[in-house]
Amino acid sequence: MKRSIETPNSQPPLQYIKGVGPKRAEALANLGFRSARDLFYYFPRGYLDRSQIVRIADLRMYVEKGEPVTIFAEVYRQEARRTRRGNKLIFLLTVKDESGFLTCVWFEGFQWLKNAFENGEFLALSAIPSLDKLNRPQFVHPQYDRLKSAEEDEPDWGKLFNTGSIIPKYRSSAEFEKVGLDSRGFRRIIRNAVDHHLSAVDETLSLEIMQRHDLCDEKSALRSIHFPGNFQELEIARRRLKFEELFFLQLMLALRKRNAQQQLRGRTYDVESKLAHQLVHSLHFELTKAQRKVLREIVDDFKSPYPMNRLLQGDVGSGKTIVALCAALIAVENGLQVAFMAPTEILAEQHYQTLTEFLKGLSVTVRLLVGGQRKKLREDVLEDIRQGSAQIVVGTHALVEEKVEFMNLGLVIVDEQHRFGVMQRATLRSKGINPDVLIMTATPIPRTLAMTFYGDLEVSVIDEMPANRKPIRTALRTEKEKVRVYQFVKEEIQRGRQAYIVYPLIEESEKVDLKAATQEYEHLQQNIFPEYRLGLLHGRMKSDAKEEVMQKFKKGEIHILVSTTVIEVGIDIPNASVMLIENAERFGLAQLHQLRGRVGRSADQSYCILIANYGWFDAHAKKMDISEIRDEKEHARTRLETMVQTVDGFKIAEVDLKLRGPGEFFGTQQSGVPGLHIANLIDDSELVTQAHKEAFDLIKNDPHLRQKENECIRKHFDEAFREILELGKIG
Ligand code: ADP
Ligand code: MG
Repeated sequence: MKRSIETPNSQPPLQYIKGVGPKRAEALANLGFRSARDLFYYFPRGYLDRSQIVRIADLRMYVEKGEPVTIFAEVYRQEARRTRRGNKLIFLLTVKDESGFLTCVWFEGFQWLKNAFENGEFLALSAIPSLDKLNRPQFVHPQYDRLKSAEEDEPDWGKLFNTGSIIPKYRSSAEFEKVGLDSRGFRRIIRNAVDHHLSAVDETLSLEIMQRHDLCDEKSALRSIHFPGNFQELEIARRRLKFEELFFLQLMLALRKRNAQQQLRGRTYDVESKLAHQLVHSLHFELTKAQRKVLREIVDDFKSPYPMNRLLQGDVGSGKTIVALCAALIAVENGLQVAFMAPTEILAEQHYQTLTEFLKGLSVTVRLLVGGQRKKLREDVLEDIRQGSAQIVVGTHALVEEKVEFMNLGLVIVDEQHRFGVMQRATLRSKGINPDVLIMTATPIPRTLAMTFYGDLEVSVIDEMPANRKPIRTALRTEKEKVRVYQFVKEEIQRGRQAYIVYPLIEESEKVDLKAATQEYEHLQQNIFPEYRLGLLHGRMKSDAKEEVMQKFKKGEIHILVSTTVIEVGIDIPNASVMLIENAERFGLAQLHQLRGRVGRSADQSYCILIANYGWFDAHAKKMDISEIRDEKEHARTRLETMVQTVDGFKIAEVDLKLRGPGEFFGTQQSGVPGLHIANLIDDSELVTQAHKEAFDLIKNDPHLRQKENECIRKHFDEAFREILELGKIG
């Protein structure tokens, strides 16, 4: 889509910036740049520290210091050599500068590296120099950047040299490179923009906020983020720009929350629920303290005149379902309908059964609505929903996404869906009569993340497990140890317990994987566990067939359930005590934790056995960049070791976040949170907290940003967030 080159905020149009011109202006505009301001906000992806650049001849001096240094050099020779034992190829890259030659060594990734460089090409290489066997300096696995020439862009450099020795590096793309905007091209035009147009940039934060948080002003921040005089200056600029980014994000959330709160629910609850009391008394266990606390928080929401928007967080097995059910009963008793939504059909079926079981003897009508149902039944259910006689309706997200008509929808419960984003909630609200919303998730979220992704939600936490639970024991095993592992599974079955065996499924080759799982199932049944009954479960099965297998497993007619990840969330079969995960290296951490949570649901000891096969990464090496393979493998190791070390979902989520970053963790787009360019929700958690408080206080005191000193904030907000806010209004 082509954008017009309009200029907000009296900013000079792009083509008036020296070095831009119509062609580049168009390329920039196509990618969403509208004015000089957008260029200023195109932050460097990194910096070359010129102060650390040394000549090859001087490297020896730095060996002992143990500090990373950078050289600028030309690729001179490339060769492969076998390791001593001869079983592996290492890659040697010899480079030269005007002072001498240096050899760089890679012990991994030969397949990729052999095509990575061209002789005569210029590189900036960084590493901590070490000595080789002949006592010569060398670089092992250096980081590198490709350069245009040995001096990179000398004229620019001369200039930069005067202001500092830190050179910004910019991200480029094929499209940008076509018009000469590689890293160096960007450096040039941004330099010009800073020199000639920075003065036109308006401040975005109020003086008060800047003073309170000790932030530098906008102009110097933008100057220093691109062309810092030293690292301290860079840090000051980064802090200011991070704060700004987080502040405006929080401001958006604060406004959203305020808008939501201003819509009265339009009905009140009588929270004295006979049904809920009856349910609690019929249980064969007592609610934990944490469950009772959370229930009270929900009841308080019901009493208030504003709709509930609550996130219920509790680790796998902490007993969220029963809490949600109590809330549902209160709504039912007030003549309202409840939608109970699960992420998968299997889970919806299971919830349906669980709820029916719990509600035996209480006169509440629960109906199930899933895709595979016969037409007659489906129409029947739809009619009951329309008439209002279906009091609790269990289903998947289709319940709110499709045209299901409720007579009087009062409460929506969303299970296991930490990705259930702001937008979906908005769609939902637009459905009926501004229903109360309770979202449940087993994914613990660090506070600062919750502040952002659920900034407009209240959060309740079940921080306690039912008393009778033993922590699950987790072991990491290799393919070679499988015979022993199978023996262990047999022993557990002989003791009357059941087991899951899970295979990974990756989308690229679902068919192949499915075939593998099916074959493996047959192999296990015939050769390993002939004396036991096995069942197979995968996502491609019809819902009737899935349902049948689950029922058999639940009744104990199947001893071992062989499955793809369809059992990942929510399934509750307390008699199962072993979770065996094949190719565990291919699962994400959250997934592993969820899978493990399928066992340990009774007073007996349960086990989780992870079979790791790291060879998988090497087998796929051809497809990936060397550094990617190394990262992937390392990440896989970290994931599995974390699983062995802890059963604490909170710790696991933190590691997961570190490995994956919040964007992927949440699916940023779905959450309706605009991308952060410079701030990071985990590393900058302190700034997140400050920005959150500042923004929410501001909206409390000056909800329409009408006060004089807040004018600059409003102006920037209107400009930067207009689009996003308009999207948000769809709901
Ligand atoms: P999750 O929070 O993972 O959704 P569930 O709601 O499925 O957990 O509960 C896990 C199991 O623990 C279920 O079998 C449930 O009946 C049981 N349970 C729930 N609360 C308690 C409690 N207070 N004491 C003992 N068992 C409980
Ligand atoms: Mg659950």
